[in-house]
Amino acid sequence: MKEQEQYLSVIKFPAFVSITLIVLSAAYFGLLYHALQKPGLSNSETLIFGFLLLVLLFLVGSWALTLMSTHLRIKPRWLQRLSKWSLTHVFYSLARFLGAITFTQPGTLIESFLNFNNETVLTDQQDVRNSNILILLPHCLQKEDCNIRITTDIINCEECGGCDIATIKKLVSAQAVDAAVATGGSLARKLIADKQPDVIVAVACHRDLVEGVRDAWNYPVYAVLNERPKGPCHETTVNLASIEFAIKRFK
Ligand code: SF4
Repeated sequence: MKEQEQYLSVIKFPAFVSITLIVLSAAYFGLLYHALQKPGLSNSETLIFGFLLLVLLFLVGSWALTLMSTHLRIKPRWLQRLSKWSLTHVFYSLARFLGAITFTQPGTLIESFLNFNNETVLTDQQDVRNSNILILLPHCLQKEDCNIRITTDIINCEECGGCDIATIKKLVSAQAVDAAVATGGSLARKLIADKQPDVIVAVACHRDLVEGVRDAWNYPVYAVLNERPKGPCHETTVNLASIEFAIKRFK
């Protein structure tokens, strides 16, 4: 059952986008067929149908490209950027729309979107070695009663072992990569603008990760969901093996 759930979680996002595009195409050709039953199209109808056809062709073409990008590195950078922009700004919204009208749990759709995005990042970074990797961490990983200012620098952590920050500090020191703690979207944006990383490994909750991936769409962002055993935004934890896997894949 667990494997089936995991499989459904992976295919949910691409399935939702594909279904939406099929429905939109069927609606377009249905309307066109209906309009052609009359003797001739007016100029304005021709313009509208022509414009809608262009939009449909763009959507279907860029979705085909985006699906390809999970298995094949898109070489022309402009095509790769077009695919990434469409994924984060168009297809995510289409899938959310279908999710909303079918009463789908937003969490599972977001997980599927993040899985899909990670696949495109892993494929795009295949055989690429990066020197400037940024690990972006949420402040809620820190133990609540800890007074160390890790937002200034994670290196300040005294490694008491009270939270995952200690192990992450050891990991990033051993791998010689940059890590920073962001207390919100604005700080995350500033950190990215200052450090200009080649690739970002972002740890956060569902909502923040989606916002981050969409916000920094022109960067490769590998998303790692945190775990919330004590509830949201409070002493969260993270699967350290996922961070280590990402660092080793990108470095
Ligand atoms: S591991 Fe570091 S950040 Fe976490 S509670 Fe201990 S000193 Fe504070």
